[in-house]
Amino acid sequence: MAKRFSTETYVKGILSGDRVMLSRAITLVESRLASDQELAQQVIDAVLPHAGNSVRIGITGVPGVGKSTFIEAFGSYLIKEQNKKLAVLAIDPTSQRSGGSILGDKTRMEELSMNSQAYIRPSPAGKSLGGVAKNTRETIILCEAAGFDTIIVETVGVGQSETAVHAMVDFFLLLMLAGAGDELQGIKRGIMEMADAVAITKADEHNVHKANAAKAEYQNALHLYPVGASGWVPRVSTCSALQNTGLDTIWQIISDYLDLTHNNGFFDKKRRDQNLQWMYEAIRQGLEDNFYGHQQVKEQLLGIADQVKEGQKSAFAAADELLRLV
Ligand code: GDP
Repeated sequence: MAKRFSTETYVKGILSGDRVMLSRAITLVESRLASDQELAQQVIDAVLPHAGNSVRIGITGVPGVGKSTFIEAFGSYLIKEQNKKLAVLAIDPTSQRSGGSILGDKTRMEELSMNSQAYIRPSPAGKSLGGVAKNTRETIILCEAAGFDTIIVETVGVGQSETAVHAMVDFFLLLMLAGAGDELQGIKRGIMEMADAVAITKADEHNVHKANAAKAEYQNALHLYPVGASGWVPRVSTCSALQNTGLDTIWQIISDYLDLTHNNGFFDKKRRDQNLQWMYEAIRQGLEDNFYGHQQVKEQLLGIADQVKEGQKSAFAAADELLRLV
């Protein structure tokens, strides 16, 4: 069990920007122990009035597109040139399966992880996507209360996780490689539609021409989508994390988006909608945990499932029987 302090100690520590206390509170959030969870909720409730004052940026792209290199370079730019305090969180669907992780590994962002203005927190291994997403959302709140004004949530653009990230950020940035077809990049249809901006990575050396061609191509593709409720037309740009080029343009795009959506009210509306969405998600998750955690369900589930498999019982009758146990 993690070392525990009083709610007040966590809250005071977090609000004063104490990173050790912040980390300890996040560990509570990630804990499966009911008593830790209860304490975590008290801490979150207490710091909530101090949270929210940030820009939350989701970043996705397939493995190898350059996410960690980009976040290292872009994060350093934000800290040095824009005077930001940056937290980088990860939602890593691979860590559930393997216990290992292709995201959030601290060694991937060496410079940032040593920067006092940055805080990097890897995704907890061994949790379901729903569990990781809930942790990340609560971690966002804790980081904001600790004074981080820019939150990057990173994920791999190959599964469901980017939908979860999209639902917790203000701005969604899709990283793409030039010259590799969408199919090749494993980018699912819906992801492109979620993007507020696309950045073509590795636009350096012999790759510049290809990157510019890809930029034009994606710009055309994005124009085919109807303009959403935000009134924002997604933009495409190129960048090189190795040569530190194009980073200022990407920040400018994000700033333009923020200006527009603050002025037309979409920013606040989106956050309110997201909150509501998360409440329903939490209810759903709670019901599910309750159900699968119930002693009788645990005892009978596999047996009844076998009966369904063998055709001895209909799926509906089986579900009904199990649901009645709780
Ligand atoms: P991730 O899997 O999406 O996190 O990708 P990485 O950041 O680990 O990068 C994958 C590979 O692309 C590494 O070998 C990087 O050195 C390389 N890379 C990343 N950014 C750039 C860039 O801006 N230019 C070039 N030429 N290579 C890059």
